[in-house]
Amino acid sequence: MKCVICKHGETRPGRATLTFTRDGTTLVVKGVPADICANCGEEYVDEATTARLLRYEG
Ligand SMILES: [Zn+2]
Repeated sequence: MKCVICKHGETRPGRATLTFTRDGTTLVVKGVPADICANCGEEYVDEATTARLLRYEG
């Protein structure tokens, strides 16, 4: 899809690193499937993936 941030790049499937802050703890999740803009590097993680990560307790 076309990147909505820079409006020039096309996104490509890749892996992102997400950071969540929860209950005062910072959780870093690496290797999350995402679409990444080839131009500006914006990461698009789908909502289902994000929701699953936010529910993760471990
Ligand atoms: Zn972009």
